[in-house]
Amino acid sequence: MRIARFTTGDDPRYALVLSEGGRDYLAVLGGDPLFAPAQPTGERIALDEDGVRLLAPVIPRSKVVGVGRNYAAHAAEMGNQPPAAPLLFLKPNTSVIGPDDPIIIPDWCQEASYEAELAVVIGRLCKDVSPENVGQYILGYTVANDVTARDAQRSDGQWARAKGFDSACPLGPWIDTDLNPEDVGVSSYVDGVQRQAGHTRDMIFDVPYLVSYISAAMTLLPGDVILTGTPAGVGEIVAGNRVTVAVEGLGEMSNPVLRR
Ligand code: ZN
Repeated sequence: MRIARFTTGDDPRYALVLSEGGRDYLAVLGGDPLFAPAQPTGERIALDEDGVRLLAPVIPRSKVVGVGRNYAAHAAEMGNQPPAAPLLFLKPNTSVIGPDDPIIIPDWCQEASYEAELAVVIGRLCKDVSPENVGQYILGYTVANDVTARDAQRSDGQWARAKGFDSACPLGPWIDTDLNPEDVGVSSYVDGVQRQAGHTRDMIFDVPYLVSYISAAMTLLPGDVILTGTPAGVGEIVAGNRVTVAVEGLGEMSNPVLRR
């Protein structure tokens, strides 16, 4: 099942994304499927119809939890050793944007970077869960770009500003509830040129371990999101670029880059 959040100009609504004859349709739902059973209203809208726009599939209720250096090759390209335990940070829910929304580089940032990542969407309140049991707490998966002000990340020590500024967390295009996250490609493109071609099997800490580890520290709420780390190949984006992030079998999301 693919769950999208969308607008046709009015308030955001939710829908299941269905494919028929090579075309994607939105089967509109009556409410937010995170908090009520998915009830189709019967209304159907073609995804490519004029005026239809996908939004971030979820606005995290309380937090986005990021995981730093979760691929050894990425840790190495940044001059770091692989961490002995997951390296956690937070991005505020105000950093979330959706497909095609602009990434706006702040005026205090001189070096912004893309980071393609598999994102986990939590479906149920989750605390002190073992890796074996995390499946029932996960609603599904989406694609994230963990946009980072690399210069501020180096100078600040703490990463709140570098990874938490407005528009630093594109999420989309939808939540896939059926994806198996163990063995899928994670990639990025800048202006159509491929920059990252990683694979989730190369994660140092896998999804069950990460959810369990995070839940031992903080309560995860329905709609919270976990970014599982980026593979090697990160690099700079500048105003005028269009950056695309993709997860194999899930979909892709693209955002223009602007400077404030
Ligand atoms: Zn990241």
